[in-house]
Amino acid sequence: MLRTHTCGELTVGNVGEEVKLAGWVSSIRDHGNIIFFDLRDRYGITQVVCNLNALDENLVDVIKKVRQEFVIQISGKVVERSPETVNPKLSTGSIEVVLKELDILNSCQALPFEIQESKKINENIRLKYRYLDLRRQQLKDNIVFRSIFTGRMREFFSSENFVEIETPILTRSTPEGARDFLVPSRLNPGNFYALPQSPQLFKQILMISGFDRYYQIARCFRDEDLRSDRQPEFTQVDIEMSFIEEDDIIDVSERLIKYSIEKSMGLEVKLPFPRITYTEAINRFGTDKPDIRFGMEILDFTEVLQNSGSSTLEEILRSGGTIKGLIIEQGEKVSIKDVDALNEFVKQKGGKGIGWIRFREKEIVSPLKKSLKESVVENLKTIFDIKPGTLLIFLGGQEKWVCETLGEIRLDVGKRLKLIDESVLRFLWVLDFPLFEYNEEERRLECVHHPFTSPKVQDIDILDKEPLKAKSRAYDLVLNGTEIGGGSIRIHQRQLQEKIFSILNMKPDQYNQKFGFLLEALSYGAPPHGGLAFGLDRLIMILRNEDSIRETIAFPKTQKGVCPLSDAPGTVDERQLKDLYIRIDFKPKE
Ligand code: ASP
Repeated sequence: MLRTHTCGELTVGNVGEEVKLAGWVSSIRDHGNIIFFDLRDRYGITQVVCNLNALDENLVDVIKKVRQEFVIQISGKVVERSPETVNPKLSTGSIEVVLKELDILNSCQALPFEIQESKKINENIRLKYRYLDLRRQQLKDNIVFRSIFTGRMREFFSSENFVEIETPILTRSTPEGARDFLVPSRLNPGNFYALPQSPQLFKQILMISGFDRYYQIARCFRDEDLRSDRQPEFTQVDIEMSFIEEDDIIDVSERLIKYSIEKSMGLEVKLPFPRITYTEAINRFGTDKPDIRFGMEILDFTEVLQNSGSSTLEEILRSGGTIKGLIIEQGEKVSIKDVDALNEFVKQKGGKGIGWIRFREKEIVSPLKKSLKESVVENLKTIFDIKPGTLLIFLGGQEKWVCETLGEIRLDVGKRLKLIDESVLRFLWVLDFPLFEYNEEERRLECVHHPFTSPKVQDIDILDKEPLKAKSRAYDLVLNGTEIGGGSIRIHQRQLQEKIFSILNMKPDQYNQKFGFLLEALSYGAPPHGGLAFGLDRLIMILRNEDSIRETIAFPKTQKGVCPLSDAPGTVDERQLKDLYIRIDFKPKE
């Protein structure tokens, strides 16, 4: 070994020992006759002291050649630091190593950026030099944590009799709502594989094969516009089980999460996680991924504001709209300017604007003050227990729009007023999703989850006549307002699966061409089954308190789907294209 210890290991217990360390020179402090190196490796930083006066001339020459991020090996003696030089931030902060020998194992060019500052610089440059970026301790810790966390998950799975099975990467399309990445097949000219958007169909087929309990830490590929924090390839912890119902999947998932978090972070996770229906989530939080780390839920004012005296409000109600709003207890902290900004936001979302009432000790301040009946204001106060200092904001219109818009405002105000406790983990199951939703642009029904999700048994009869009323057997797990997992009980009868395809406007030849293999498998004794997948990158991001999944992936891509390190995607030789019978009809971007 080139070292006797790592750079994060030595303590006062090692004082007096002769040690050998190897690592990167994180910083150099030159005080003339004394030079300090901070020597860094994956485990930490150790301070190395070079007393030039006490060292041989040749060695001093070598020491003077050392620059930042050189890889060096040193040997020396561990000594205790004087009390005033102890660094409590470092695990090795109470000792230093007095240098006796130094070997330069490799040099390093001038750096494109300061390693510890890399989070602040342009992402393209950071990703181009990802190997340098990954030397930053926090990022490295994220990647190490991810490995520990998945290790704990694997422990749990094997203790519960799950089988880890790999499914193909070169496959057919699996619809999860995105475009496919396609790979041309040289051996089958003109044919393409699709990269899996998820292992969905294969895991169902494994249930039909009788594996009973499957899991995989699986890479998924979705060709989406990467507007938000998404990656074209990401990782799912994918689960499928046979002979189960919703509660069984929920139970296993909860225990998996509890086990993995407790064993890798030492935090206590309390079970069971609360549950809420989709409808309730929309009504109370305006979203299907509620952040329940704070209250300020959406309230319905439709009833109290009947005959309020305000013609605007009465008009909304007459035309069948609802009026809902938020009670902001720390209303004094929301300025006129903030309310104006919310008003603008509502207008951008197609609304007319926001209504508001500020409750003072004896009076109210509101643009509606003149028209609002005294009795209505009093009713508001008593019914909703409104105290002076409160700001009430409300919106009128079509219910879903009102809820969704208020949901966004709730989050924004919650963040601004610091109502969110950042130190907690709040899990929530969302259940009873609708099976379909209507895509206005394409004028057709779409699945809320995927087309293999089973409808609720009691809703099978209404599928033909009122498909939008049918509920599904799907469930999502939300953590701190982010969806971290989702799944469903699947359809296991061929006939029902074909029916769903036809409701989605697919003709038999279309669905047989795409999913014939699944339909056929379903007719060979498919057991009732269901499962779920967790988004691993997202889960790690939240657990590590990061704000982007790119901080949890060793080699992520940019928002344009580019890997600046390897320069993928790139052009290919004419020859390679010819092998694939592909001709490019326009000049590709260089
Ligand atoms: N395949 C689904 C997804 O990727 C998860 C599941 O239904 O198990 O969202």
